[in-house]
Amino acid sequence: MSETTLSKDFLRDIVGEDVAKERYPTIITRFPPEPNGYLHIGHAKSIVLNFGIAADFQGRCHLRMDDTNPETEETEYVEKIIEMIQWLGYDWGTHLYFASDYFDQMYEFALVLIQKGVAYVDSQTDEEIRKNRGSLIETGVDSPYRNRSIAENRDLFIRMKNGAFPDGTHVLRAKGDMGSPNMKMRDPILYRIKHASHYRTGDKWCIYPLYDYAHPISDAIEHISHSFCTLEFDNNRAIYDWLMGHLWEAPRPYQYEFARMNLDYTVVSKRKLLQLVREKHVSGWDDPRMPTLAALRRRGFTPASIRTFAEKIGVAKTENRIDIALLEWAIRNDLNFSAPRRMAVLEPLKVVLTNWPEDQTEVLQLQNFPSDVIEKGGGDHSVREVLFGKTLYIEREDFAKNPPKGWKRLIPGGEIRLKGAYIIRCDEVIYDADGRAAEIRATYDPATKSGQDTTGKKATAIHWVSTATAIPATFRLYDRLFSVPDPEDGTDDFKQNLNPNSLVQIQGFVEPAMAHDPPETRWQLERQGYFWPDPVDSTPEHLVLNRIVTLRDSWEKLAPSGKAVDKPKEKKTTTQATRSEASEAAKQLAQQYGIDLRQAEIITHRIELTNLFRETVDLGADATSVSAWVSNEANKILNDGQTLVLNATHLSALIQLTADGIIGATTAKQVLLEVQETGKAPAIVVEEQGLQQISDPDIILGFVQDTLTAFPEQLAQYKSGKTQLLGFFTGKVMQASGGKVHATVLRRILTEALAS
Ligand code: ATP
Ligand code: MG
Repeated sequence: MSETTLSKDFLRDIVGEDVAKERYPTIITRFPPEPNGYLHIGHAKSIVLNFGIAADFQGRCHLRMDDTNPETEETEYVEKIIEMIQWLGYDWGTHLYFASDYFDQMYEFALVLIQKGVAYVDSQTDEEIRKNRGSLIETGVDSPYRNRSIAENRDLFIRMKNGAFPDGTHVLRAKGDMGSPNMKMRDPILYRIKHASHYRTGDKWCIYPLYDYAHPISDAIEHISHSFCTLEFDNNRAIYDWLMGHLWEAPRPYQYEFARMNLDYTVVSKRKLLQLVREKHVSGWDDPRMPTLAALRRRGFTPASIRTFAEKIGVAKTENRIDIALLEWAIRNDLNFSAPRRMAVLEPLKVVLTNWPEDQTEVLQLQNFPSDVIEKGGGDHSVREVLFGKTLYIEREDFAKNPPKGWKRLIPGGEIRLKGAYIIRCDEVIYDADGRAAEIRATYDPATKSGQDTTGKKATAIHWVSTATAIPATFRLYDRLFSVPDPEDGTDDFKQNLNPNSLVQIQGFVEPAMAHDPPETRWQLERQGYFWPDPVDSTPEHLVLNRIVTLRDSWEKLAPSGKAVDKPKEKKTTTQATRSEASEAAKQLAQQYGIDLRQAEIITHRIELTNLFRETVDLGADATSVSAWVSNEANKILNDGQTLVLNATHLSALIQLTADGIIGATTAKQVLLEVQETGKAPAIVVEEQGLQQISDPDIILGFVQDTLTAFPEQLAQYKSGKTQLLGFFTGKVMQASGGKVHATVLRRILTEALAS
């Protein structure tokens, strides 16, 4: 096992230690979905984590259907769950289990608890149970049934199981502590009566175990070593340990919690996703706008991209939201190297080349991959044939009658290169009754053929298809499902934040090669994004293409001023066209927040930086510090070609840690890079890596005295007036403390010590 594997995250650290101490014969983890809905991207994180850790430590990971609730579970969901985990590329071998298969054993263990006198049948009503549990500020009250004899408990429980009582009349509870500050330990309920049919056990049972009881026992039965769950189960760990303490001997499983993943612009909760499906806001669980794995697969995401994403976000101990741009980055990064390039026109505008001979066509050889991709080890040198002729379609948005400032594409009288073909000049535009361009009449320049151009003319290249061979196709352009990063924030109905434009369907044309490509090919359509045929609706007769992802973050379509620009596909950020606008925005930002204008220029230059800046300041962080961090460090990350994992919550926390003197400036930069790398909260990084500054004057004085003793010569020189040596001593103390000494405190103590 490599060292990097061991130190990748705190969970691996825990497992690594258990391996080192040989606490378990085999490391066994499990992924325990409840078959009450489709898996979503949040589950992918847990899958990658559980299977990944098992693999890293030569162990295994079980797939367990956590199916103890008869009311919501279905076989359809079981099948879909299995299908999706296999699709992601994970294999549990023979270790597929069902918690419902353990019902008999769970029942036997309940009898053991009763026999030990640590579980009892409570006959209070639900209402009384709730009331007597107390609250966070009031302790609970013991149930009047708490002291039933073992024999009576046993008898009642057996009769519960045999169907002698109606729902809600009795429950089995653990004897915890009604005075415990942990509410979960106030006599947790282990079993309820529920006369309901289970999708697997049918009517065999009319009592069902609760999660807190069923989960630890299932783990123990399967000899799980490490049971990873999300943070909201923090308080349930006490029940887990209580049960294990009564029922199991070492080696026993332990529960560890990590932060649930939340993804911006979507919701990851089966319950909420089910609402979207039921209320028909989407076409189904696999509607390509959904965050379910089935939907991502249908949209065209690759398993590799999802695994990369899940690994990239890492494991944190505090709740965090992940920018969906990271998921988009992962798929772009994957497809850039594997998706052949093709041309398609989504919103066609006809062009007639008046000087091209009638009936003449030319076959062009176009490369399937650009050279920069091939140089980086992706793609290949293959070519395809594309027909060029007298009439063509170009993209409507590549022509402008009244172009905005800085426009580089076609205008009346202007020139443009048709990619891989010739430069053409727009001589005449025919408009329809509404004043919309209906046809462009142009002349081509025979001397400008791509690769053989002798004219030295410069023109922007645009994509096109020849009308003679163009194949009609439907394009489905997806955008984010919700129009705000946190759809649940500030509303009791998250559905109000649905993005009304999350699906735009249009008719256009593709080049003929696409009709002959293998069925599951993913293409990069020049300048339009990555696409593939929708697995449900596309047919060989009529292609229906899903846009998997745009070529760049389309949410950058927000102009630097923060206003949405009218044309969605207009790419405006750092081009010449927006220079003057950017500096106007910079001036405004600088003025509004009183920050450095040069920094404001950098921040307004990119929408991610602008958002990060504003959001962090909104969280109450000092604008000057935020500005410095965003324009320097965050900007560097983007320049590096990375997507920002670092968010406003991280940054404001980091600034606070620095302001509180817990870390120094240099350490803070190191922490920031770690946050970017792992998505962990800054405080966690500081904690895990022991980066806290030393501010304790006594400890610092110790370092100072050691240093002064170690350098008597320099000390003498200082005393005789060479006060510049203050820097020398500061450096030595810093070195000795690993850079952890609080600089201001050190300066004071050092000056005092030198003066005495
Ligand atoms: P949901 O809230 O969507 O219903 P859940 O936690 O109830 O999710 P389960 O089927 O019980 O769904 O989850 C199976 C496993 O996946 C659990 O171990 C759970 O902790 C993990 N998991 C679920 N959602 C997330 C998430 N957003 N991030 C990380 N892990 C998750
Ligand atoms: Mg659940």
